[in-house]
Amino acid sequence: MTLYGVVETGGTKMVCAIVAGPDDVRDEVRFPTTTPEDNIPQIIAFLQRHHQQSPLAAVGIGSFGPIVLDRSLSNYGSVAPTTKPGWSNAQVVAPIRAALTIPVGFDLDVTTAGLGELMWGAGKGLNHVVYYTVGTGIGAGVITNGQPIACLAHPEAGHQRISRLPEDTFPGNCSFHVDCLEGMAAGPAIEKRWGVKAHLLPPDHIAWRFQADYLAQAVMNTILFVSPQRIILGGGVMDQEHLFPMIRTRVLERLNGYINLEPITHHIDEFIVPPALGNRAGMLGALVLAMRAAGHASAEV
Ligand code: ADP
Ligand code: ZN
Repeated sequence: MTLYGVVETGGTKMVCAIVAGPDDVRDEVRFPTTTPEDNIPQIIAFLQRHHQQSPLAAVGIGSFGPIVLDRSLSNYGSVAPTTKPGWSNAQVVAPIRAALTIPVGFDLDVTTAGLGELMWGAGKGLNHVVYYTVGTGIGAGVITNGQPIACLAHPEAGHQRISRLPEDTFPGNCSFHVDCLEGMAAGPAIEKRWGVKAHLLPPDHIAWRFQADYLAQAVMNTILFVSPQRIILGGGVMDQEHLFPMIRTRVLERLNGYINLEPITHHIDEFIVPPALGNRAGMLGALVLAMRAAGHASAEV
């Protein structure tokens, strides 16, 4: 039996686990995200303790972004300059690989969750999916041919342009672009616009009509740019299940018949879907990264 180390580095907490398969978690720890000087040694200590008892084949890490994914760069595997205090240019992959001397897979948190969904969740059996998370921020993992796309860097689809509804007077709250998708439709934007936490807004509130339209624009842009087989919408805000039918309707209205593909025109309910793995997606995606880093073909689709 093969063991893998999996790590999720999040904005508020770190999760590390030892797993033998998607339903076989052997040990797990969580600790608060503070500084890389504290957190990276904590991660290493947990992994190393297990690795010394029974060797791990590889480690998979899903990280908050932005991160450096260009393998030709000397700072591959680090956090890119970020507003998160202390984490700009922090090395993540290098110290873990140096300490354990085993392969390390690394990708963005949202891409990692998308990989988990592709392998064992809402994208099972497919090769091309886009996974959005709509939470404190908005991000998208783009997976084609079973692989995350990473070119110069990972996509930043949370900051795509959308057009505001004329009746929406909220200026937007992205500190870089003001009224990009994240600035208009992430949880904090909803809260700021209406002066109340998003989960307290009743389902018939006009807030959800705005929300459905903005997310529908993002879905439409995604269809036009990537043409995936399925789009998975996750994150805290998407716990509002009534958004799904609203988004599907708006996507069809906004596309206005331009895309004539059956999965979209006839099966939109299966084209725009919620995640199937809930909060396990990140962990399972990190397992895919670890299995692939170890060269295990069972992690290929
Ligand atoms: P994070 O993005 O920080 O990892 P979440 O995906 O849970 O975490 O997103 C948190 C955001 O989602 C907050 O802005 C919160 O207001 C919003 N949110 C959480 N649960 C709900 C809900 N049930 N309905 C609407 N919004 C929610
Ligand atoms: Zn932005």
